[in-house]
Amino acid sequence: MLVVQKYGGTSVGTLERIEEVAKRVSKAKASGNDVIVVVSAMSGETNKLVSYAEHFSKTPQSREMDMLLSSGERVTSSLLAIALSAMGFPAVAMSGRQAGIKTDKFHTKARIESIDRLCIEKELNGGNIVIVAGFQGVTELGEVSTLGRGGSDLSAVAIAGALDADLCEIYTDVDGVYTTDPRIEPKAKKLDKISYDEMLELASLGAKVLQTRSVEMAKKLNVNLVTRSSFNDNEGTMITKEENIMEQPVVSGVALDKNQARVTLRKVVDKPGIAAIIFRKLADENINVDMIIQNVGHDGTTNLGFTVPQNELERTRAAMEEINASQTVEYDSDVVKVSIVGVGMKSHSGVACTAFDTLSKEGINLEMISTSEIKVSMVIAAKYGELAVRALHDAYELDK
Ligand code: ASP
Ligand code: MG
Repeated sequence: MLVVQKYGGTSVGTLERIEEVAKRVSKAKASGNDVIVVVSAMSGETNKLVSYAEHFSKTPQSREMDMLLSSGERVTSSLLAIALSAMGFPAVAMSGRQAGIKTDKFHTKARIESIDRLCIEKELNGGNIVIVAGFQGVTELGEVSTLGRGGSDLSAVAIAGALDADLCEIYTDVDGVYTTDPRIEPKAKKLDKISYDEMLELASLGAKVLQTRSVEMAKKLNVNLVTRSSFNDNEGTMITKEENIMEQPVVSGVALDKNQARVTLRKVVDKPGIAAIIFRKLADENINVDMIIQNVGHDGTTNLGFTVPQNELERTRAAMEEINASQTVEYDSDVVKVSIVGVGMKSHSGVACTAFDTLSKEGINLEMISTSEIKVSMVIAAKYGELAVRALHDAYELDK
């Protein structure tokens, strides 16, 4: 088998940890696999480098930031290669450039355009374990680029896709993907498998196990991803095609997104083009609108509500004042969004009703609702957020 293993910052956070990782990598190699390892910088290192740059300038050149930040991953990749070689396992460290990872020219947020698989293959064929510095590549002009924060996941998935790896394991400090945040519901269970689409919904709702872009890429390139802990031997969670999951639960997880605020415009003139003006303005300001609700008009006016991330509320307020589409605009940041996610919803009816029933039994009022094929989201008062998560987790028997 060809295996890609990616280790995040906490997994390689100290020299002892790098030693532990070297042992795990050597086991994969000793059991007959070809092994490619992708590493992050030691935890805290990238932030430290950013703060060094900010000591000199609030707006450091992005080309230089890439030179600076890419160094963190080069440190861990070379140390890991040295550790493995010392254990008797020949290993070579490669920068993004040496691994043939070509990106576009947008420094600090570059996108991978292609990977020349021969670069890594040549080293694998020589019997080496290949350790690639994550989070980086090289532009057409030969400049070092980085992929955006958290980008090592993306490096690993892209490499697994380009080299047709059998498996891409993402090692972190959590055991995998849970039915909900175990800090809210201790009965939360780790999922054995979850589909790409469910993972994407959960990730965009704040489950931080995997970077969203890397899940999108895994789906596109059909890479079987496993997320698991490098601190124990527990099996992780596999993220894979829907067809690969035999027993589809109706609901796989419950998510709570606290970074929500609601905006309500009252008595907006009910004529064509008004929504376009409002949401064009928000788009121009790069504000991420999530749910939108427009009521049936009455007397030539209507009410319009939408949600934005809480940390964008002030900018939203400024934008609304500028376009002045309504006399009365209400802002409420005391709301959260709870969502249930599951591919099984496609083939079952009444799933949403169970959620509504459950929350009503708890006396929780639904302020907004939105649904997709595999998700039901509800905006409720913030103080009920955790209660709602536990009630829904129970209602769908996710602890079973
Ligand atoms: N070291 C980079 C960061 O902290 C990339 C990564 O860890 O994935 O964003
Ligand atoms: Mg990271």
